[in-house]
Amino acid sequence: MFDSLNIPTDGQKVQFLNGKAQDTPNPIIGFIEGDGIGPDIWSATQNVLDEAVRIAYDSNKQIKWVEIFAGEKAHKKTGEWLPQQTTDFIKEFGLAIKGPLATPIGGGIRSLNVALRKQLDLYACFRPCRWFTGVPAPVVEPQNVNMTIFRENTEDIYAGAEWEAGSEASKEFIALAKKHGKILRDGSAIGLKPMSEFGSKRLIKKAIEYAIEKKLPTVTLVHKGNIMKFTEGSFMEWGYELAKEEFGAQTISEKELWDNHNGVAPAGKIVIRDRIADNMFQQALLRPAEYSVLALPNLNGDYMSDALAAQVGGLGIAPGANFGDNRALFEATHGTAPKYSGMDKVNPGSLILSGVIMLEYLGWTEAADLIEAGLEKAIQDKQVTYDFERLMTGATLLKCSEFGNEIIKNMKSA
Ligand code: NAP
Repeated sequence: MFDSLNIPTDGQKVQFLNGKAQDTPNPIIGFIEGDGIGPDIWSATQNVLDEAVRIAYDSNKQIKWVEIFAGEKAHKKTGEWLPQQTTDFIKEFGLAIKGPLATPIGGGIRSLNVALRKQLDLYACFRPCRWFTGVPAPVVEPQNVNMTIFRENTEDIYAGAEWEAGSEASKEFIALAKKHGKILRDGSAIGLKPMSEFGSKRLIKKAIEYAIEKKLPTVTLVHKGNIMKFTEGSFMEWGYELAKEEFGAQTISEKELWDNHNGVAPAGKIVIRDRIADNMFQQALLRPAEYSVLALPNLNGDYMSDALAAQVGGLGIAPGANFGDNRALFEATHGTAPKYSGMDKVNPGSLILSGVIMLEYLGWTEAADLIEAGLEKAIQDKQVTYDFERLMTGATLLKCSEFGNEIIKNMKSA
C-alpha cells in the first residue's frame, strides 16, 4: 500500500497503550512539508529535531522520517490535494507532523486542514500557550499566561452546514422552525452547528486527563450556554457530568468547592468550572494566572487559541497538535504566508515547538527540554527572525535556517 513512500526498514511503528505512545527507539514518523513557507520552516525544524535527539540519546534513538504528501506538492505529483495514501499512512503509523497548507482554490476541498482532521478523526486540537522569556508581547505581564487549550475538532461549525438566504433549503428550515414554535425572519441565511454528548465528552476527557497527568489545578469549560442552551450549554453540562462519573476521585466542581470547602480545593483535586466565552476573553487578559487548562467547543476554541497566542507573542511561535485515539498530527498553527515563500525568512518556531510536543508525546522529554531551552536562549540573546527583530531593540536579524542553527548551537553548548 505504501510502496512509493520509501518506508525505512530499520524503523518501527509506534505502538499505543491506553492512548499513550509507547517508547519506540526508531519511530517511523510522517512529515508533510507544507506549501508557501512550509519547506523553509520544515527544513529548519527537521534539523533541530534530529540534532536534539542525537544530543539527548546519542545513537540510541533516531526518528525515521517518511515524506507524505498533501497540498500543492501532492497535487503536482498525483493530481490530488490530499491523496488517500497520506491519510492511510497516518492511520497505519499513528504520527505525522506538517507545515501549513494552502487552501486550494476551486479544488473541491474547503480546507485541507479540516479535511485531515475529519478524515483522521483527530478530535482534540491541543494548543499550549505560554510565554518564552524575551518574546515581544503586547501585554504587560505575558509571563502570567500559561494555558493549554483543548478545542473540539470535529463538531460545531466544523460539522456545520449553511444555506444561502432565499434558497429552497433555507426556506424549508424557516418553515420547519415555525412548525416547532420558532419564528425566524423570512429571507434569512441558515446555519447549523451540531454538538453531541459523545463528541463533547471525549474532548473534555482528554483535557481532564492532561490536567491530572500534569498536576494542574483547574479545567475550565468555556461556552456560550447562556444563549445557546442546547449546544453550548450542554457542552458545559456534559463536562460536569463526565468529571463526576469518570474522575470523581480526582476532581471537584467549583460549586461544590464553594458549598462545602470555603473555596479551597482539597489537596490533589482538580477544580472543574465553567466560564461564558465572552467573560473568558476578559479573564484571559485580566487574570490569566488563574487559568491552566481550557476545554472549548470548536468555534470558541478557534478564537481563544489565536487570542492567547497573540498575548504571548503571536502565531510565529504558537505550536499545535491534533489528537485522535492512537494517532496525532502535529502542526504549525499559522498559514503559508505566500509572500515569504522560498525567502528563508520567517520564524520556524511554531513548527519547531510543535515538534517539541511530538517529542513529549513520544516520552522523549530530554530532547524536548533541550529544544525549548535552546529556543528561549536564542530569543534572550536577541538572535531572532524578522518578526521579532522588528519589535526588539538591538536584535540581530537571522534567516529562518539561521534561527534553527542558533537553537542547535545553544543545545550543543548547554
Ligand atoms: P498566514 O499565512 O498565517 O500569514 C499571515 C501573516 O502572519 C504573515 O503575513 C506574517 O505577518 C505572519 N506570519 C505567518 N507565519 C509566520 C511565521 N512563521 N513567522 C513570522 N510571521 C508569520 O495567514 P494568511 O495569509 O491568511 O493565509 C495564507 C494561506 O494559509 C491561506 O491559503 C490559508 O488558507 C492558509 N492557512 C493554513 C493554515 C494551516 O495549514 N494550518 C492555517 C491558516 C491559514 P507579516 O506580514 O506581518 O510579516
